[in-house]
Amino acid sequence: MLRLPSMEKAVQLTGLTQPEIVSFVETLGEPAYRGRQLFGALQHRRQRSFDDITDLPKELRTRLNDIARAATLKVESQYLSDDGTRRYLMKTHDSLPVETVFIPEERRDTICFSSQSGCPLQCTFCLTAQLGLLRSLTAGEIVEQIQIALNDAYGTGVKPPRGTNLVAMGAGEPLLNLDQLLQALRVMADPQGMHIVPNRVTVSTAGVVPRILDLAKTSDRPHLAISLAAPTDELRNELMPINKRWPLDDLLGACKVFEKTLKPNERLTFEYVMLDGVNDSDEQARQLANLLNRYTIKSKVNLIPHNPADPLPYQPSSDERVEQFKNILESKGIHTYVRRPRGRDIFAACGQLAARQTTLTNTNLVGAN
Ligand code: SAH
Repeated sequence: MLRLPSMEKAVQLTGLTQPEIVSFVETLGEPAYRGRQLFGALQHRRQRSFDDITDLPKELRTRLNDIARAATLKVESQYLSDDGTRRYLMKTHDSLPVETVFIPEERRDTICFSSQSGCPLQCTFCLTAQLGLLRSLTAGEIVEQIQIALNDAYGTGVKPPRGTNLVAMGAGEPLLNLDQLLQALRVMADPQGMHIVPNRVTVSTAGVVPRILDLAKTSDRPHLAISLAAPTDELRNELMPINKRWPLDDLLGACKVFEKTLKPNERLTFEYVMLDGVNDSDEQARQLANLLNRYTIKSKVNLIPHNPADPLPYQPSSDERVEQFKNILESKGIHTYVRRPRGRDIFAACGQLAARQTTLTNTNLVGAN
């Protein structure tokens, strides 16, 4: 009887670059071009089963089925928002939740992917925090999230009609999984694969200072966004406990180092979630502007109205409050944008990813596959 290897032993091919796949097939005694073919099938045509890669000899496909995996994530359920946003709730081979959000926009699509299952950080305004850290995702699991979203939106192997931007703003703290994240970005950047280059990718961090400095030294790096949420250490300690480890002075010092690596048109992004009556006063807007101006970093601020979720003790700031906060920042020379929430009705918006499955009405549930 044929015994399949356990998932841990099987090689997860979606997380390998083209040269790595070529070396892998060479260890099987196959010529290099078979590796290039296999890479194209997995990454360009986004095929998720060896059996479907019919341009490979049948014996090779059988062999691959024995020792490797083309797909490990399973979609458990998917939801479609009234605004076109789609949320996928998936499971890893070891049954941990992974969530990905596909956000269609006029000129491009944005895919918001997760870097970890759950999250170890304890930000009080984010629902994902309540899961705790289950584990970091592998490069292959990161790449698969993008493939699943694109295949669902456009069909397997169909070239997306618009550009694809990626944001590492799903569950998890990407800079606590930097090696796997960068490996995934190398795989996806290949012109013979999905060809999504790092310049199309934004990584958001709660402020893991040493890794910000590492990222600054990385060639071909993605863009960086910093989740700020508060203008003072006192409040930030409360909202984002990571601030106790790396307070604002350390964080902005690292941003200053990172700034030296910005390209001419590039800016660092600061994200500021707007919590009614907590961090949204005129005084706090002035404090934020003064803080950023003190460090004179080439940056912009994205104000994100809080996305409420049942157990979270916050409400979103009113539109007028957000507007007034923005005006104060702009009057002090800070470029400020207000982010429109997407997919709130299906728990797909920022800070709402917590593997929710049961609380939705049937109309938004598209069905599992
Ligand atoms: N751990 C990373 C990436 C995930 S969070 C980070 O902290 O940056 C992505 C963004 O969503 C962050 O800017 C965070 O501040 C924001 N966010 C979290 N919970 C939110 C909520 N309930 N409403 C609105 N934005 C939220």
